[in-house]
Amino acid sequence: MKEIINHLKDFGFVFQGSEIYGGLANTWDYGHLGVVLKNKIKLAWWDFFIKNNQYNIGLDSSILLNSKVWKASGHLDSFNDPLIDCKECKFRFRADSLIQHYFPDLNCDGWSVEKLDTFITEKQLKCLNCQKFNFTKVRQFQLMFEINQGLLQDQGNKLYLRPETAQGIFINLNNIKKAYNKKLPFGIGQIGKSFRNEITPGNFIFRTLEFEQMELEFFYSPEDKTNWFQYWLAEMTKFIESLGIAKDSYQLREHDKEELSHYSLGTTDVQYQFPFGTKELCGIANRGSFDLVKHSEASKTKFLVEDRTTNKPVMPLVVEPSMGIERLFLAIICENLVQEEIESKKRIVLKLNPLLAPYHVAVASLNKKKLGPKAQEVFELLAKSCIDVFFEQKSEIGKVYNYHDQIGTLYCVTVDYQTLEDSKVTVRNRDTMNQERVEINSLKKYLYDKLNIIF
Ligand code: ATP
Repeated sequence: MKEIINHLKDFGFVFQGSEIYGGLANTWDYGHLGVVLKNKIKLAWWDFFIKNNQYNIGLDSSILLNSKVWKASGHLDSFNDPLIDCKECKFRFRADSLIQHYFPDLNCDGWSVEKLDTFITEKQLKCLNCQKFNFTKVRQFQLMFEINQGLLQDQGNKLYLRPETAQGIFINLNNIKKAYNKKLPFGIGQIGKSFRNEITPGNFIFRTLEFEQMELEFFYSPEDKTNWFQYWLAEMTKFIESLGIAKDSYQLREHDKEELSHYSLGTTDVQYQFPFGTKELCGIANRGSFDLVKHSEASKTKFLVEDRTTNKPVMPLVVEPSMGIERLFLAIICENLVQEEIESKKRIVLKLNPLLAPYHVAVASLNKKKLGPKAQEVFELLAKSCIDVFFEQKSEIGKVYNYHDQIGTLYCVTVDYQTLEDSKVTVRNRDTMNQERVEINSLKKYLYDKLNIIF
């Protein structure tokens, strides 16, 4: 993990949040390459789940919702984590994480507060900070951040930063159904920030206070016999694999009954083998009619949608494939940042999938003064297209290749002295390191073919 974190910092993907003030635990900032990678993950999700799917449409709902939403959805009463405080040094831990620190092979997901408490007491687990054994009892801790609306702190309206994007979708169901004349089955997806007051042992961007989710709420009729849960689970794994995560790097885990979230009738996690353990990457939940029933009761709104087969209006059931961008980001980096040894020379390469590479091409020249203008021409030729191209100022070509291998650039195009005579450039492939001479006139077509971009 240390090497991965350093790599992402050194190359400007991810920085520690508020670093010059000593940091703020579990917050991270994204530099240019990090933003580009996140945007490409989001675009890939949008294309896969919304644009190229016959059933689904998109939404961008508010982060701040009327607090009645969170009361009705059950988040105010049931969305919490089991925490324990060290009475000696005042450090606070998630009780399950503390146990897992001492017993990494033990899975205590879904244990009750009492069971966690008894285990910690019986085994006399010590505080990870001061090494003493003097804890409070395990307590449930509300995960939603509270804020105040209005001028006066104590007379304001209490609001919550959303802990999931899903509720914004449920409460807009009738608007969307009417505006887009939707009949079941159909899905509504959105990408947006969520916030959770998490207490965590670190693990970099895996679990943060503020993160982005890509969620799809898929609505279908109770009479529809299609197994939509299996359908979307298969789609979700297909999507992950399309981003360059190998089949044998992840596994599926079904939740036990006692660990299900308050809204779920069944949940399956996709777990990824992170360097710090096999952990949830994303998940799919069978939310049944829980949310719509609760909002229907609390807001006195009917949520009836026509089934496109029977034309009968029914209260839909819901399955929800949900994923966090940061966890996908981390898994993609863990999967693709590799060290290779070729002819006893080491090189580090970020073998990002072409869909995600921050740059498709970097254009460089062997001599800034003499060949720079020609390189500029080549850059401009490629820049006005759907190729993501970077103009490289450095002219030490070994260093150029080394840098672009480490940030994942797919091809380096080099202008050399020969170019001035034969109008050809050298194109070097990141993964094979093969080099080819290509005519400038056909360079764009050559790259389109290689990148498989439809234009
Ligand atoms: P965990 O058990 O790891 O806390 P969860 O089951 O509570 O996760 P969900 O509520 O199912 O997570 O959220 C859907 C997805 O959102 C997760 O699979 C994960 O990718 C992402 N996610 C949830 N919480 C966080 C967080 N604090 N930081 C980053 N990503 C998160």
